[in-house]
Amino acid sequence: MGAGHAAGQFAARLRNEKFEGEIVMLGNEPQLPYQRPPLSKAYLAGEVGSDRVLLRPADFYEDKNVEVRLSTAVAAIDTGASTVTTQAVTTQAVATGAGDTLEYTHLVLATGARVRRLPGFELAGVHYVRTLADSDSLKSALAPGQKIIVVGGGYIGLEVAAVAAKRGAAVTVLEAQPRILSRVATAPVADYLRRVHEANGVVIRTGVRIARAEGEAGVGAVVLQDDAGAQGERIEADAVIVGIGITPNTELAEAAGLHVDDGIVVDERGATTCANVWAIGDCSRHPSRIYGRSVRLESVHNAMAQAGVVAANIAGKDTVYNEIPWFWSDQYDLKLQIAGLADGHDETVIRGDPDTGSFTVFALARGCVIAADSINAMRDHIECRKLAAAKKAVDKARLADVGVALKEL
Ligand code: ADP
Repeated sequence: MGAGHAAGQFAARLRNEKFEGEIVMLGNEPQLPYQRPPLSKAYLAGEVGSDRVLLRPADFYEDKNVEVRLSTAVAAIDTGASTVTTQAVTTQAVATGAGDTLEYTHLVLATGARVRRLPGFELAGVHYVRTLADSDSLKSALAPGQKIIVVGGGYIGLEVAAVAAKRGAAVTVLEAQPRILSRVATAPVADYLRRVHEANGVVIRTGVRIARAEGEAGVGAVVLQDDAGAQGERIEADAVIVGIGITPNTELAEAAGLHVDDGIVVDERGATTCANVWAIGDCSRHPSRIYGRSVRLESVHNAMAQAGVVAANIAGKDTVYNEIPWFWSDQYDLKLQIAGLADGHDETVIRGDPDTGSFTVFALARGCVIAADSINAMRDHIECRKLAAAKKAVDKARLADVGVALKEL
């Protein structure tokens, strides 16, 4: 179920495992599995076309005998009967007709996530970035001189801000928290990125409360709340892009009786609480041995790795998922690479000089590296994954010293 990155990779990996049974992929979007990261980066900027965004070419699914049913949503799962019922949908996921009932031996839920919507922002000219269709629609709204407001200073918001600024738009980012990237990056890296955005003409406003959107036919402005909670400043906009996070698609799983807790709960093997039902990618929550707690990850690496683990397990191996999470973001000519999860860190150590445009920030908890954010420092990033996975106590002076190879630590 699902035809995103996790599902596409799963089908490929299952064939690699020499699985000879029937594979049917059900996706409610009209496209074959594609990569989402470029939708807010190179694809939005017009630097790569839709053919380059597809995970694999159409022939691949024919060659591998994977039946892909697109514009097909699953309406219900019956775990007792081991069946799913489908429904044909339009591009807007509106049901257009009855579907089929399919039997399964194994069911893999790769239903992904959907964007969180901002209430009261239902006007034309308000964009979200999750699907290829979203990115196409936004692309046509970005033009030189346009006034663009981005709500949310996470990766999506900042990546879109960078593309819009490069196109010559006048961009304002509105972030509710006291700093940008508060959920996903350390403070020194967030401060650095803020300065880079400002140098590119982007206005970043943090700690703001949004009151409402204004406009008749389409959005014309965003009105902020002042400190007393009254409606205050009005910022004009030709388009608004909202990037305030995603919600996992877990409703069908929950209705089918699976355990759901901000994600479909799986064990280390990717198995849900129901026999022969598995979950992978953004929709799933798994126990992390490295962090000693359950996590739901929104990353390509997680989708790919979980797809591999579940494919192996369905093929009869006994494999567990135990990898350090990693993420990336491209903004302007910067590559931000993140190894590990920084939540709960109590200290940061900077390695290298941010003014050179290449440095790494380590997040430590009780003296151990738990995560690291690297800016234009690919080699550091690879070593950081190992350091964060090992969660070893390290000498902070040596960590900060670019003269000491990370490998030695
Ligand atoms: P995404 O993947 O969409 O970038 P993140 O959760 O990483 O999601 O980032 C979303 C950002 O949006 C966070 O920094 C969060 O503080 C911010 N945010 C959430 N709700 C609002 C809001 N109503 N107004 C402004 N910013 C918001």
